[in-house]
This record gives sequence, C-alpha cells and structure tokens, in this order.
Amino acid sequence: MANTIVVDIVTPERLLLSDSVDMVTLPGSLGQMGILHGHAPLLSTLDIGEIILHKGNETQFIAVSGGVVEVRPDKVTILADTAEASDEIDAERAQAALARTEKMLAENPQPTQRPVLEAAMRRSNLRLKVARRHQGRRHAEGLSYEGKQ
Ligand code: ATP
Repeated sequence: MANTIVVDIVTPERLLLSDSVDMVTLPGSLGQMGILHGHAPLLSTLDIGEIILHKGNETQFIAVSGGVVEVRPDKVTILADTAEASDEIDAERAQAALARTEKMLAENPQPTQRPVLEAAMRRSNLRLKVARRHQGRRHAEGLSYEGKQ
C-alpha cells in the first residue's frame, strides 16, 4: 500500500512480526528513530528499548533488547537479540528477574559483572514498562466500552 512500510521483526528463535505499518519508531543506538515509507537506507545497531508500530488508529508496543536494523525505503528489517510484544510479556517473571539482579548488584559484584547486571536491569525495567502499556490499553478499552452502555 502507498505510504506504508513493511516491518519484519526476527529473533534467533522466531519471526515475531511481519506487517505493513504507517510508521515505526525504534531504539537506535544513537537515539529513538521514527521511520516512514521512503526513508533513506541505513543500518544501525539497536539499544535496549521500545519499538512502537503505528497503523491506523492502532499502536503496538514491543520490547527489544538490542540487535540490528536495516532500513530500506519500503522495508524495515529488525534482527533482535530478544523481542516480546506487550501482550506476551510475563510481568511477574520480569519483576522476579529485576529483584534477582538488584540483589546481585547490591552484593558488590566484580567490576566486569556490573555492566552485565545493569543491562539485565534495563531489560527487566523495559519489559515491565511495555507490559504496563498493554494493561493500560486494556483498561482504556474497558472504560470506553463501559462509556457506551
Ligand atoms: P530471565 O532471567 O527471566 O530469563 P532475562 O533478561 O535473562 O530474564 P533474556 O535472556 O533477555 O531473559 O531472554 C531469554 C528469553 O526469554 C527470550 O526469548 C526473551 O524473549 C524471553 N523473555 C525474557 N523475559 C521475559 C518475560 N518477562 N516475558 C516473556 N518473555 C521473556
């Protein structure tokens, strides 16, 4: 379709998503990037962060923990280290992982372990944030449904 861009999100385990969207925003290593149809070709590494897909009135949120992205004018290919859609994140698991990591950080880890633990903490915090976006949307949908009655 004119003015849309195809987005593929692939992890080592699976193809998470292949869809045609109006706009995608990505956590590039140099900052959040907004990509529309016709964007100049580029290659970038990805940071731990949120991918946001805009399609009509819908917005979809995905947690990504690094990887690479190739942008072409009509297609964005994301090779992610890990990626989860907001509705498939297990918030309890993320909370438990966060608590474990915080405990290890508080126990004076080896200097080489510190960045590894800090990255794990960022992944867990991101998963919690993206999972909350899903809960927030369900809440908003519930409110508008109730409003119609
Ligand atoms: P954990 O200690 O809970 O495994 P982690 O940050 O070490 O957390 P990762 O190594 O980043 O986990 O991911 C391992 C796999 O598990 C990936 O496929 C990732 O998508 C998935 N995953 C990790 N945490 C969650 C979660 N909270 N909900 C759903 N999938 C998750």
